[in-house]
Amino acid sequence: MISLHTSPLAQPGEGDCGGMNVYVRELAASLAQGGVPVSVYVRAWRDGLPSRLQVEPHFEVVHVAAGPMSMAKEDLPGVLDAFADGVATDLAARGRLAPSVLHANYWLSGVAAHRLKHRLSMPLVTTFHTLAAVKSEAGDPEPTERERAEREVIGCSDRICAANALEAAHLIDLYDADPERIEIAAPGVDRAFFSPGDQGGARRALGLPSGVPLLVFVGRIQPLKGLELAVSALAELRDPTTQLLVVGGPSGREGADELRRVEARIAALGLAGRVRFVDPQPHHLLSTYYRAADVCVVPSRSESFGLVALEAAACGTPVGASAVGGLTGLVEDGASGRLEAGREPAVRAAGVERVLAAPARRARLGRAAVRLSHRFGWASTAARLRRVYADLSVERVPASCGVGA
Ligand code: UDP
Repeated sequence: MISLHTSPLAQPGEGDCGGMNVYVRELAASLAQGGVPVSVYVRAWRDGLPSRLQVEPHFEVVHVAAGPMSMAKEDLPGVLDAFADGVATDLAARGRLAPSVLHANYWLSGVAAHRLKHRLSMPLVTTFHTLAAVKSEAGDPEPTERERAEREVIGCSDRICAANALEAAHLIDLYDADPERIEIAAPGVDRAFFSPGDQGGARRALGLPSGVPLLVFVGRIQPLKGLELAVSALAELRDPTTQLLVVGGPSGREGADELRRVEARIAALGLAGRVRFVDPQPHHLLSTYYRAADVCVVPSRSESFGLVALEAAACGTPVGASAVGGLTGLVEDGASGRLEAGREPAVRAAGVERVLAAPARRARLGRAAVRLSHRFGWASTAARLRRVYADLSVERVPASCGVGA
């Protein structure tokens, strides 16, 4: 697996770390547990990292030196060749024990892996996680270079892994992807960590008050995630005791500005005593936050999947989400939570109020959310990918597309 710009071992919920890190770690671990050895190649991003780190049996992380340790994501295109060289050298040294399939994550890894595919005649699977054309449609434009590069990688990937039918449609409609090469493999949730539990106990453990309605927002703070909308909706709620817990930190080019905007909105709306910020938490500790909440809010402008919504559901917490992207497959409107199309704070507040209206109703929604979450599991994701890798190892690698070699 190629995960150039961010490590499966890094803390998700801030900076460049989020769902993709969780995806790579959980998928690699599930593949390894199912007997498929996985090496995850990551760019060395700080001093002192071991060149190889055995995470668990058959799952290692390999750090490849390419460029200075600390680099802005925007500058990474300049070191893709050096990174690909480093991976190629490592693979060559492994001889017959080298992996037989490349699986790239995110467009930057896709570009590096595309070069490796041609250089080493290896089949290439790509998971994009997000697509520039989709982000642009949601009002979050990306450099044109990214969309062009995605198009090139999509044109030459032997399989493109989509999280759901909607992402598959985006790949076909916006990028002319070959439908035959698209494989839908939904991400999963680790039920050993994310399962229902006692709300009162969770609140006590976190030092949160009992008896007041509590909303939780988990994830990276950047405009796309819509935290500002969650804050505005909080101000519209009729019950002035309702609180909002925010777990995560600023991310990306606009992360710091977005946090400032959110803080200004909190002050302007007089909500200072009702919104609490918590630093990003280790993934396995998040279940306590989901259990403590009455509703998990996911007000994103776009979302290719939406792991947070699935994790909350697995903990029995109803989800109030935007009716966008992958979220539409993770919330059953009116049954396991609420899906709202509009972005008016009053509409979001009304949706949350309907969930909070009666404890019995909230419990019913929570049970439905748990049932829904059972449709997803990393072992199933891994099983699907295992079949893809096996198919590719007997298929002829498609002819060179003439670029990236
Ligand atoms: N996350 C975490 N700790 C935090 C905040 C977030 O482990 O403090 C994880 C969260 O559990 C989820 C991922 O980060 O698995 C975010 O994934 P999601 O698909 O919701 O959003 P993305 O980051 O991919 O945009």
